[in-house]
Amino acid sequence: HLDRIAEVDSGINAFLHIDAEGALSSARAVDESLASGAEPASALAGVPLALKDVFTTRGMPTTCGSRTLENWIPPYDATVTRKLREAGVPILGKTNMDEFAMGSSTENSAFGPTRNPWDRDRVPGGSGGGSSASVAAFETPLAIGTDTGGSIRQPASVTGTVGVKPTYGGVSRYGLVAFSSSLDQGGPCARTVLDAALLHEVIAGHDPLDSTSIDAPVPPVVRAAREGADGDLAGVRIGVVRELSGEGYQAGVLASFDAAVAQLRELGAEIVEVSCPHFTYGLSAYYLIAPSECSSNLARFDAMRYGLRVGDDGERSAEEVMSASREAGFGPEVKRRIMLGTYALSSGYYDAYYGSAQKVRTLIARDFTAAFEQVDVLVSPTTPTTAFRIGERIDDPLAMYLADLCTIPANLAGNAAMSVPSGLSGDDGLPVGLQIMAPALADERLYRVGAAYE
Ligand code: GLN
Repeated sequence: HLDRIAEVDSGINAFLHIDAEGALSSARAVDESLASGAEPASALAGVPLALKDVFTTRGMPTTCGSRTLENWIPPYDATVTRKLREAGVPILGKTNMDEFAMGSSTENSAFGPTRNPWDRDRVPGGSGGGSSASVAAFETPLAIGTDTGGSIRQPASVTGTVGVKPTYGGVSRYGLVAFSSSLDQGGPCARTVLDAALLHEVIAGHDPLDSTSIDAPVPPVVRAAREGADGDLAGVRIGVVRELSGEGYQAGVLASFDAAVAQLRELGAEIVEVSCPHFTYGLSAYYLIAPSECSSNLARFDAMRYGLRVGDDGERSAEEVMSASREAGFGPEVKRRIMLGTYALSSGYYDAYYGSAQKVRTLIARDFTAAFEQVDVLVSPTTPTTAFRIGERIDDPLAMYLADLCTIPANLAGNAAMSVPSGLSGDDGLPVGLQIMAPALADERLYRVGAAYE
């Protein structure tokens, strides 16, 4: 995989940092321990992985795709990083991302865009475009992403790979640099559903260092992926969400989705149309809640506690240094979100914006609850379009935000969701993804249905 990275990554830019030495020494340690007759530390011992550059890694840079953290080397490992190391998974390096995970194309990285291996003039999705592109380009069999509004599933969809957002609280956020704490969730990127399940079981589990981590057994996702592989969905009820298709969706995406539903029916599933009327407001609620939380979380990059410091000439006040540093350290999308969020949280506007958005969030969660009384999982296209061209949406934030139309509801409700490859679009020959959504703590249903379908 290191050879493959050396061969193709200059044209893809999936990696921000490559740790050849570290990966090789971790692989050698696995070889030595197996040679001495020890049991492998996990099913993935010796299988390399690429880590989104938003998880802290002791001794390895962690930039979050931002100038403000350009030279930061964390003194500690995220829980996800620690679990990977303990499982004997060699970490090949850190992957490119939209700055602080804000974006849908990886063009908001301060270190240049990642290119889609299917067509290098197109985006690999975002914010975790580096992770999904590295899997799609065979630079690594596995990667880790984070999904706040779709950043694992949307890149998976447009790169023809598998991506899973586990139930909120299923994977620890300790050492995951926060964007929107009530939505952020780490999860697996892989080329098959079973690979994703194996990785899911390595990284999931309760963590006392994260107060929102769920103290419950890890859902049996590997068993479910193996069961699903026999392709029998008899007795499984699948809901097609009426509100997540139609106008604004490409014809090739809708055709692929219809074919996917027909295939699920052939595999024995019972297909039911369900209505989730408040999903239509998901995008609006998300773009108040996520920027609000981001404006608070990113206050720590003030040049005093964390982040780039410029203009500290002994003459300027602390406030002037903070202001100059944040001006230089953050890109335009991050600044836009901080301003939006600060406004939404300001006194006099808090109830009208943040308060209303939280109420909509509750209504969306209730839509899910009602739907899951009728069906086991819900399905929709993962994204309304295939990969768009680099530069096409960068000056139009609202067009960029639409990429997450279908993925956001699961984040707002804290549910589990997966994107699984669903063939190529008849419009442009680019990959399309099928989204599967399950109730919180029922992640195994995604793997059962996803493995049967793939
Ligand atoms: N594209 C969405 C945003 O810009 C989601 C990002 C994410 O999931 N990290 O906020």
